[in-house]
Amino acid sequence: MRVAVFGTKPYDRQFLAAANRAFSHDLVFLEARLDATTAILANGFPAVCVFVNDIVDAGVLAHLAAGGTRLVALRCAGFNDVDVGAAQRVGIAVVRVPAYSPYAVAEYTIGLLLALDRNIPRAWARVRENNFALDGLLGRNLHGRTAGVVGTGRIGSLVARILKVGFGCEVLAADPAIDPALDAIGVRYVSAGELIAGSDIITLHCPLAPGTRHMIDAAAIASARSGVMIVNTSRGALIDTKALIDGLKSHRIAGVALDVYEQEADLFYADLSNEIIEDDVFQRLLTFPNVIVTGHQAFLTEEALTAIAKTTLTSIAAFEHRTSLGDRVVEPPRFVA
Ligand code: NAD
Repeated sequence: MRVAVFGTKPYDRQFLAAANRAFSHDLVFLEARLDATTAILANGFPAVCVFVNDIVDAGVLAHLAAGGTRLVALRCAGFNDVDVGAAQRVGIAVVRVPAYSPYAVAEYTIGLLLALDRNIPRAWARVRENNFALDGLLGRNLHGRTAGVVGTGRIGSLVARILKVGFGCEVLAADPAIDPALDAIGVRYVSAGELIAGSDIITLHCPLAPGTRHMIDAAAIASARSGVMIVNTSRGALIDTKALIDGLKSHRIAGVALDVYEQEADLFYADLSNEIIEDDVFQRLLTFPNVIVTGHQAFLTEEALTAIAKTTLTSIAAFEHRTSLGDRVVEPPRFVA
């Protein structure tokens, strides 16, 4: 199938091209992100492939449908940026990669937590300057502290297990669906409010949805333990960044590690080192010594990229097969497992 692959980086091309040897799709790699201004590039392509920060709203979907696109393949799990209802109305099917090495994100989450708690990036920056002083690098053991895991799906359940079994934390969890395997090892399910009020560490692993947007807001931060550390590798808009900054300024929050940011689409995945960044909220966030930010890279392992490429190309092939058998194209968007 002819596929316009938007927002590609060298690593995307490497792993998609390798996986495509088993499929022979006609992949056209585009550097541009998909949005209203670039949707025209998809004209004539029956399938487009996009990533986390591409814009797949109603306007873009209408444009894609008019240009003959029948499938949007997300090479990620989260689909909060896709207007699923609009896709259904214009007869575009949607597939995603619901699971690709949750270990990649879970391990990265723990890496961020340790880096934050033990000041590893600051220590390394000092040593490179031949500054071997330890003042300001004091950390705290994870062992014995209470960690709250919001969302215990594929990724959150691994994080909860690592914290409980690996580090000996007390682990609280909040999720409408209780994982009995976590319950069995002593992870205690509580309400989101109880988790926020009772945790030394809060780590977010639930999807972004209308009900979870800004779940960490001023009220949540006011109810949190003084000295709480917050880690977010899920989606940026789970946190109200301005409230987070206020919490850091008031010292209620002892540290923040983020791999995602609510306005990241304007920043992440591009080299902006020669640019003036206009996002003052983001720039303020970077001024705190107790904040670590990375550019949405928790997924970036060989195993995850291999799985993403394989699942994406398999979903495209399945769609092509079905439509070649004469299935009606106008059907509800589907998420292929
Ligand atoms: P998942 O669907 O397996 O798990 C999500 C869990 O959140 C489910 O158990 C669900 O019941 C729970 N949940 C839903 N609403 C909730 C709420 N209001 N409060 C608490 N829990 C709630 O998803 P996953 O594969 O574990 O991924 C989790 C998130 O991680 C994704 O939504 C995605 O946004 C993010 N992610 C980030 C990266 C990255 O590179 N940083 C990579 C992959 C996924």
